[in-house]
Amino acid sequence: MPNPRSPGWFTRQLARIIWPGRTGVRAMEDLLQLDSVLRFASLYAITVLAPGILLAYFGMSSIKSEESAVWTEVRTEAGRTADTWFGRTEQIFNAFEERTIARLDAGRSPLESALDLSPNLLVALRLDTDGMIAAPFAESSFNLPADQTFFYTGTFADGRKAERSGHLGEAIKLFERASREATGHAHRGVAALEYARLLAKSGESRAAESAYASVISDYPEARNGAGFLLRDLATLKRAELLLLREPVIGVGALKDLVDVLLARRWELSRGGEISMARRAISRMEPHADADWLASTRSRLDSRSSQMYWTERLIPELKQIIGSGTALKVEPRTFHYTQGDDVLWASIWWGADRYIFALSWKGLLETVRELGKDSLRPGGQVEVSLVPPDVEPPAGVLAQRNLVPWMAGWTPSVYPADAAALQESQASRRARRLGIVGAAMLLIVVGAILSARLVGRELELARMKTQFAANVSHELRSPITQIRLKAESLQLGLARDEERRQQHYDGIVRESERLSRLVDNVLDFSAIERGTKQYSFVPTDMAEVVRQCVDSMRFSTVARGLQIDIEIDEDLPIILASPEAIGQAMTNLLSNAAKYGATGERVIVSVKMVELRVVVSVIDSGLGIANDEIPHIFDQYYRSKDPNARRLKGTGIGLAIVKYIMEAHGGRVEVISELGEGTTFSLHFPLSPPDRTGAH
Ligand code: ADP
Repeated sequence: MPNPRSPGWFTRQLARIIWPGRTGVRAMEDLLQLDSVLRFASLYAITVLAPGILLAYFGMSSIKSEESAVWTEVRTEAGRTADTWFGRTEQIFNAFEERTIARLDAGRSPLESALDLSPNLLVALRLDTDGMIAAPFAESSFNLPADQTFFYTGTFADGRKAERSGHLGEAIKLFERASREATGHAHRGVAALEYARLLAKSGESRAAESAYASVISDYPEARNGAGFLLRDLATLKRAELLLLREPVIGVGALKDLVDVLLARRWELSRGGEISMARRAISRMEPHADADWLASTRSRLDSRSSQMYWTERLIPELKQIIGSGTALKVEPRTFHYTQGDDVLWASIWWGADRYIFALSWKGLLETVRELGKDSLRPGGQVEVSLVPPDVEPPAGVLAQRNLVPWMAGWTPSVYPADAAALQESQASRRARRLGIVGAAMLLIVVGAILSARLVGRELELARMKTQFAANVSHELRSPITQIRLKAESLQLGLARDEERRQQHYDGIVRESERLSRLVDNVLDFSAIERGTKQYSFVPTDMAEVVRQCVDSMRFSTVARGLQIDIEIDEDLPIILASPEAIGQAMTNLLSNAAKYGATGERVIVSVKMVELRVVVSVIDSGLGIANDEIPHIFDQYYRSKDPNARRLKGTGIGLAIVKYIMEAHGGRVEVISELGEGTTFSLHFPLSPPDRTGAH
């Protein structure tokens, strides 16, 4: 049957490399030990180190991925916020463009209630092919008549005077004449209007109505000194008269007037139509329906606000049209140009060009608001709308460019609190690294401790193997000796009495050695099992020591050593186990004999020192190295010194001595100098502790 412990091929090769040329028992021992070490190392590597390293690897990579996960999370949130923001901004522009195009597609003008197209719209204009404003306004072409004196001179002045002095008939006549004779078309018209007014004032409503009707038909284009169209004034006055007589017809006429005024192109920097329309509305207020009034007022407001902005923006508009960028010919596509106060949006529609001015102030407010709305509640990011050519905030995580609408304006998203994020990151990393580090440290410490433990166990196992070999060897030599000597006696080979006596002595000595050895082994195994018991009796130490030395004389003398005994007088009788003391002394003496130098003396002394009986065995032999002293009482321990190692032994003698001394409540001490000699002292208390000595 193959030896189950026989080392494998790998171990054998390794041993050959480590200890080349080693053979015999030592080689086998080393091989077995190496095998055990390898088995342990591989088992440890598989069960502890590998999982530990894997865990550490996963720990580290999880730290890394968790770290990047935090950033990825913030970055994703930033990206999502920027996208939402951009998307919402896109929506408001798309809505504006779609509404405008839908109106154009439907054949309606985008200039009608233009403010519905976008809340930020200030102005909506149609341009003619020359880039002049074609609707809803017109650049003023009208100049007041140069000769203003007319109004205050001649017939006209007389008519006024007559009216003031209460001569209405006179005044009517004078104005009637002026309406025919005054120089200049507009002047005649103004006089005709005055004539109609005076007729109304004098109570001739019908005549006044028809006089107004004539002004309307005769002077369609003429204006008075304030720039009002005479036709509009006449229509208003006539409608006012009608209102008194036939309210329904009157309201209808006023409504018609307002519609006409709203449908007309207003001349910029005039605004006559607006005051006219407001007056018409206030006249019909008690009669007209509320909805019509409200919607008309709002149309009027919108138109007047547009006119205000158009007047203000005309220089900029001229510049933009001049640069040509705003009016690229690309049908159905809006082009955006950034102005100072407004964002210009323009589109070609067939031959028409429309241009819209969107308020920057309103737009920026809207877009910033959209940015805030895009933030997730409790999120980790902040938003900022960065203007063109301005540095974005530090650590920006996501940016979008509002091309084509607000090119260069960038919705930017950055960490709400980068420092806190980094700090929490660092503390999390430190904590995790700490845990992984501690785990690794534990694994390493565990590896070192178990390697040491296993090393000790292996050493013990090696010592045990050695012990078995040593014991067999120790047994063999006295048995051989006894047998040789007995055989030579049996066969009568010893020629004389002296020789025979030597053989007898030899047989006794070797049997003593044998029995000492067997005693030691048996006791040691009893000690190891914990079954060794001693019985303490009153003992005369001097006597026990003396007997012991006597019984050892043979072996010591045979080695050429002399034992001197020094015993104090009046030693007390102590409680002890004479048998155990004998065994301890025998072990010390046989060591002194073994490791003592030939021809030297061994001194055995028994003294009383401070209520203790101290037995010392002093030799002047090999001595023990300082670093070995702590180990010599360990079981199986044998010196590493080659001089001591040459001498056979089992390594249990001193372990037994130590055990015996402890059982007696005493101790064993050693003083030694390498090459000088050794002193072992057994310190006995006068009585052992209250126990039998068995553990
Ligand atoms: P061993 O059977 O090897 O003598 P012991 O337990 O009696 O075992 O002794 C342990 C070791 O102590 C010995 O191997 C030896 O090196 C050392 N030793 C013991 N006694 C002496 C001594 N008197 N002089 C020098 N070395 C000693």
